[in-house]
Amino acid sequence: MDSELPALPKQMPPAHPFDDDKLKEECGIFGVIGLTDAANFVALGLHALQHRGQEAGGIVSHDPEQGFNSVRRFGYVRDNFTSQSLMETLPGPLAIGHVRYSTAGSKGAAIRDVQPFFGEFAIGGAAIAHNGNITNAIALRKELIERGSIFQSGSDSECIIHLMARSLQKRIPERMEDALRRVEGAFSVVAMTRSKLIGVRDPLGVRPLVLGQLGEGWVLSSETCALDIIGARLVREIEPGEMVVITAGGGVESHFPFRRQPSRFCIFEHVYFSRPDSIIGGRSVYETRHQIGVELAREAPVDADLVCPVPDSGTPAAIGYSHESGIPFAMGIIRNQYMGRTFIEPTEQIRNMGVRLKLNVNRALIEGKRVILVDDSVVRGTTSRKIKEMILDAGAAEVHFRIASPPTAWPCFYGVDTPQREKLLAATMSEDEMRDHLQVDSLKFISLDGLYRAVGEAGGRNAKCPQYCDACFSGEYPVAPSDMIEQGFALKAAE
Ligand code: SF4
Repeated sequence: MDSELPALPKQMPPAHPFDDDKLKEECGIFGVIGLTDAANFVALGLHALQHRGQEAGGIVSHDPEQGFNSVRRFGYVRDNFTSQSLMETLPGPLAIGHVRYSTAGSKGAAIRDVQPFFGEFAIGGAAIAHNGNITNAIALRKELIERGSIFQSGSDSECIIHLMARSLQKRIPERMEDALRRVEGAFSVVAMTRSKLIGVRDPLGVRPLVLGQLGEGWVLSSETCALDIIGARLVREIEPGEMVVITAGGGVESHFPFRRQPSRFCIFEHVYFSRPDSIIGGRSVYETRHQIGVELAREAPVDADLVCPVPDSGTPAAIGYSHESGIPFAMGIIRNQYMGRTFIEPTEQIRNMGVRLKLNVNRALIEGKRVILVDDSVVRGTTSRKIKEMILDAGAAEVHFRIASPPTAWPCFYGVDTPQREKLLAATMSEDEMRDHLQVDSLKFISLDGLYRAVGEAGGRNAKCPQYCDACFSGEYPVAPSDMIEQGFALKAAE
């Protein structure tokens, strides 16, 4: 079914050395039914979701005459899914697609790990694309292999296909329900049969999924920005624990196959992962990030001459900080938009230039000034330290870091690539120790309550029943990461 595959690179380098020090969302998913040449719309949607995964992408389509077809490729959507001859191999009015950074346990992966995954069952074929991470995948995989399943990839998501194969249900949607009831962790899934587009969110709704409409066609997408690119209208978010089954002429059937639970959407989607032009919970992500900056200025004021963002992700919060504090906003750091993967691959010497390849200080603005730098997060701290050096080299009088998220002290097990706990700066240092380590004049993070207020929870975080997943800040995991605990990961001790 797969079209011819290109030679595989041994290990894809990170898109930018600068991006090594960011948490990375691992996947974006998109699906279309009821539009001619649906795969073309999926390619555009995936292009708009490229920030959620740059390592590889894939599309599966179905055509009544030509059946299922699939193409999976390493690299950017724009470099692979723009050729007319390739897109002609993906005919039909129904298609789903996936972009990935990398899935659990398979960094620098093979093409066999690239989604969507496809399964041919006695009752017909089905393809699935998964955003999130299955926290009991190792145990499930072991059980499935012992019972005869033959895995094709190293991906946790393939468990869903094998669990579906073992279900005794007569229809694919019911088989998916059976499979997903066995799965723990975070999942937003877009799937397709010969005639149906299916969308599901896990009971806590950790990862996003929205429903859109374009003419007679329906669309499922990780984010609303990908609806905009094809001119689709946002209908609504898929609810936590909801499954929608969509047929081309028959509309949207909705049901809730899991036990209902209070939602725990990933709060980091607001801070960093989602695009600022996306809408979450009826509010623009840009507006939320601006409000984070406002809260940060209230919580952590400091005398200074300029507020500068670490571009691009720190920009809305820096604008908010500037508005609230009255300190002028300035683009003291300029991002080179054209620094791509190709240029940094050739030599170690160029890679060692690190942040300077990507960011440059606007010396004329910075010289002699007391500068507040606003960034979205501190992960390892390596980038923050280099940026501070660049600002001081440019003649800044003082450097104050203000961070638009609380200290990231715990790894994420729900579909975000995080370093091991000991590599997270905040896991081993207090705020003052981090300030000394980074050698800046001051360092302050927004509080967890401040972040909750900024995302619209006026009363802050409900400690008994938090309204969001915030495990990477609080260490309180809404779903126990059972595979990791089995491997020795120590949960936070009860207080
Ligand atoms: S642990 Fe952090 S990044 Fe992961 S889902 Fe929860 S809030 Fe999001």
